[in-house]
Amino acid sequence: PLRIGVLALQGAFAEHQHVLARLPGVESTVQVRTAAAIEDPTLDALVLPGGESTTMALIAERSGLMDPLRAFVKSGKPVWGTCAGMILLSNTAHATKAGGQNLIGGLAVTVKRNAFGAQVDSFVADLSIPTLINPETPFPGVFIRAPIIESVDEKEVEVLARVPRKGEENSEGSIVAVRQGHILATAFHPELTEDDRFHRYFVDMAHQVIKQK
Ligand code: GLN
Repeated sequence: PLRIGVLALQGAFAEHQHVLARLPGVESTVQVRTAAAIEDPTLDALVLPGGESTTMALIAERSGLMDPLRAFVKSGKPVWGTCAGMILLSNTAHATKAGGQNLIGGLAVTVKRNAFGAQVDSFVADLSIPTLINPETPFPGVFIRAPIIESVDEKEVEVLARVPRKGEENSEGSIVAVRQGHILATAFHPELTEDDRFHRYFVDMAHQVIKQK
């Protein structure tokens, strides 16, 4: 059974813990706030929650966590970023305002922050996600000032879900969930729904990744 860390600097970390703690295959969850906690060899996997990516990166920098977080991702241990967490895992991020942002990186995608515009700060969309259990039941995607994935390195990254955007109804839709080997990323917030299929997917994925190591 897994010991799963949730980065607990800011944002929706407790909600992830609640869902993970009751799933089979999870031994315990732990709030991670220090380099020592990230470097703890008994930590099997890590979740980077949603919140505000600039703030989270700033706190992580001040606490000396950016390099330990990068090392964790490079180590090949399973990682999942939701929303702001997804932004931090991306290799490149475009903000709506000018100004750079320090990222953890590792995920070969370019994200656009706050991509749904101010009028639709938050919404729920039914997502079709073939890789989940009972895929015929749509997954409720909770989007809160959410980013989208603008482009992916197709050799590395598997697209798991898309959502139509205003003015783009005829296109395939914007990418909102991806997997790159041991890295999972979602633009939406599965921890804010009753549907735990995405958390189950991460736990299964983590078991697979660890077995292959
Ligand atoms: N808008 C936030 C950001 O850019 C992300 C929002 C979220 O995590 N729900 O970091």
